Amino acid sequence: MRNLMYRGLTLTAVATALAAIVAAQAPASYDLVIRGGHVFDGAGNPWAIADVGVRQDTIAAIGPGLAGEGRREIDARGLAVSPGFIDTHTHARRGIFEVPTADNYVRQGVTTIFEGPDGGSPVPLRPFLGKIAALGITPNWGMFVGQGSVREAVIGRADRKATPDEIARMKDLVREGMRDGAFGLSTGLFYVPGIFTPTDEVIALAAVAGGMGGMHVSHMRNEASGVLDSVKETIAVGEQGHMPTQITHHKIIGTPNWGRSVETLKLVAEARARGVDVTIDQYPYTASSTGINALLPPWALEGGQADVVARLRDAGQRARIKAAIVESLVYDRGGGDPKNVQIAACGWDPSLAGKNLAEITRGRGAEPTMDHAAETVMWIVEKGGASGIFHAIDEADLERILKDPVTMIASDGEVPVFGRASPHPRSYGTFVRVLGRYARERRVIPLADAVRKMTSFPAQRVGLYDRGLLRPGMKADIAVWDEATIADTATFAQPHQYAVGVHTVIVNGQVVFENGAMTPARPGRVLYGPAYQPSR
Ligand SMILES: [Zn+2]
Repeated sequence: MRNLMYRGLTLTAVATALAAIVAAQAPASYDLVIRGGHVFDGAGNPWAIADVGVRQDTIAAIGPGLAGEGRREIDARGLAVSPGFIDTHTHARRGIFEVPTADNYVRQGVTTIFEGPDGGSPVPLRPFLGKIAALGITPNWGMFVGQGSVREAVIGRADRKATPDEIARMKDLVREGMRDGAFGLSTGLFYVPGIFTPTDEVIALAAVAGGMGGMHVSHMRNEASGVLDSVKETIAVGEQGHMPTQITHHKIIGTPNWGRSVETLKLVAEARARGVDVTIDQYPYTASSTGINALLPPWALEGGQADVVARLRDAGQRARIKAAIVESLVYDRGGGDPKNVQIAACGWDPSLAGKNLAEITRGRGAEPTMDHAAETVMWIVEKGGASGIFHAIDEADLERILKDPVTMIASDGEVPVFGRASPHPRSYGTFVRVLGRYARERRVIPLADAVRKMTSFPAQRVGLYDRGLLRPGMKADIAVWDEATIADTATFAQPHQYAVGVHTVIVNGQVVFENGAMTPARPGRVLYGPAYQPSR
C-alpha cells in the first residue's frame, strides 16, 4: 500500500509528532509521585510495594505501577514510605519562633506537632495561633488548652481549692480554648499550680472539653511512689468526665518503683474493659527532663521564685526542703546517685549545661554526697533554677509500656536552637529511636506497629481524620526513610545530632527535607480541634 505523505513526512510520523506535542502540553498526572517504596500505610499493616501519587496537598492515588507521571518523581525503591509522624506532646512554642522549620522534628519524619502539654498553654489560644499562622512554619501545629494555665489565670499559683465562682470562670476559659481550636485539655498535676488542684475540679474542667469533643491528656501528679494512684486519677477523669483520657509520657521513676508498669498497664486494661477510653503515650528514653525544681517538695514551690527563695532562707524550712531533696535524690527522680541528675540548660550560668550534680558539687569544693548534692540543688534553685535531665527509669518498664497496644509515641521534646544548651536527646531522636533501636534492633515491637504508634494512632486519638494514614484523599504528609539505617544519633552527652536514615519528608504535598537538607518550604498549617469557631 502506498504510504500517504504530507509535506514529505509519512502520516505515521506526523501522528507520532502530534502525540508527543500533546503529551508535552498535557498537565502531569500528579504533582509528585513517590515510586516503588515499601508503603507502610500507618494502620499497622506490613509494607506493600506501591507508588504514591500526590496532587496539591492531597494523596490522589496509591497503587503498584501507578500510570501517569509526576511533575516530580521520587525513587523510593528499597525505602520505606509512611505517613509523616504525629507528635501529640511537645514543648515547641518557645523554640519555634527561633527555628520555624523545627529541623529536629522534621529531620525525623515528623510532620505534625502538638503544643500546650502538661497543663501549660497560652490563655487565650487564639492570638497565639494567629502568631503561629503568621510565622509560617514547616510542620503542622495543633494545641491543647492547659488546665494549670487556666487555673493560674483565675486564682494564681495559690495552694487552695477554687470557689464555685472561680470554677465557673475556669470552665469559661476552657470553653474559649476549645472554640479557639484546642484538641482538648492538658493537665500537669505534678506542677504548680496544677498540683494544688483536687481531682473533682480537674474532672469538672475536663468534662467541658470532653463535651465539646476534646480529650484529656495528663502529666500525672506522681510518676514515682504514687504512680498507681495517679494512673487511677487519670482514669477517673476519663470515666467520670465521660471523655477520652491519656497518660502522657508514661514512665516509672525511681529505683524502688521499677517494675510497677505491670500494675499500671493492668489498671489501664481493666479500665478499658469497663469502657473507659484511656490510652498512653511514651518517649523511648530512660531519663526524664524537667525543671530542677522537680526535686523540691510541692509545698516549697507555692507562689513564685521569690516565695521559694524566701523558704530556702528560713533555716527551719530549708532543713525540711533539704531532707525532701535527699529523699528525692535517693528514691525518686534523682535515680539514687547525684551523677544521674544532669543540667540541661541554665540561664544564669550556661556553662553548667551538660554537667551533672556530682560534678557541680565537686566544683563547689564538696564531696558529692547526697547531702552536699542537695545543697547544690538548693543553690541552683536560689540562683534562678535550671532545667535538668534525670536518669531514673528502667529499660524493662520502658519496653513493657512500649509493647502495650494502647501506647503511642510522643517526644515531650522542644525545638532546640542547634548547639545551644544540653537538651534531652528526645527532641532530636524520639521517633527514629523507636524505629531503629526498639523495632529494628531490639525487636520489641514490629516495625509496622511502631509506624502505627506514631501515625494513625495519634491521629485517631486527637481526631485528626485526614492525616496519619496513606490513603487517597488524605493530606499528603509523608516520610520516606531507610528501614535498614534509620536511627537516632543524639545522646545525653552530645544531644545536638540529627536523625539519620530519613530520605525525604513531605508536608501538605510539599517537600520540606531531601538530600540531607531542609528546603525553603514552610507549608505547615495550624490545625484546629473539634469545637473550633473560625470567627466570633
Ligand atoms: Zn510532662
